[in-house]
Amino acid sequence: MELIRDVLDFISTGLGDLGATLAPYAFIGLVGLYLLWLVIGYLRVSQVGIQAESATLPALPLPHAPDGAIDVPRGVPYCPNDGLRYPAGARFCTQCEADLLASCANCGATIRATDESCYRCGTHATLAAASD
Ligand SMILES: [Zn+2]
Ligand SMILES: [Zn+2]
Repeated sequence: MELIRDVLDFISTGLGDLGATLAPYAFIGLVGLYLLWLVIGYLRVSQVGIQAESATLPALPLPHAPDGAIDVPRGVPYCPNDGLRYPAGARFCTQCEADLLASCANCGATIRATDESCYRCGTHATLAAASD
């Protein structure tokens, strides 16, 4: 009977103390969750940063034909001054800031990478670049 009385005593008087005892732990738990959320957010941002950086990099040197001319795959934006090829959708050379050129994917005519379509055969330039 001593035990039951202690339990009743504890319930009647100890609940407030219990709340005061548990409150710091609950607070620490919330702070821990907040820190975890910050860490996850940081990791996601840093990964996005890596992906964005690698997506802006690729200006690849073009192979040169034996006669010295640049060997350009059709439908790919390139800079004739620096001999660099750029991913589809690029508009300007990052080295010399010139307009990029592209060879029409259909007829091979040299057009500007910013042109909507080929002046000679009318092939849509962006469609041609997407199918490259
Ligand atoms: Zn250039
Ligand atoms: Zn064409």
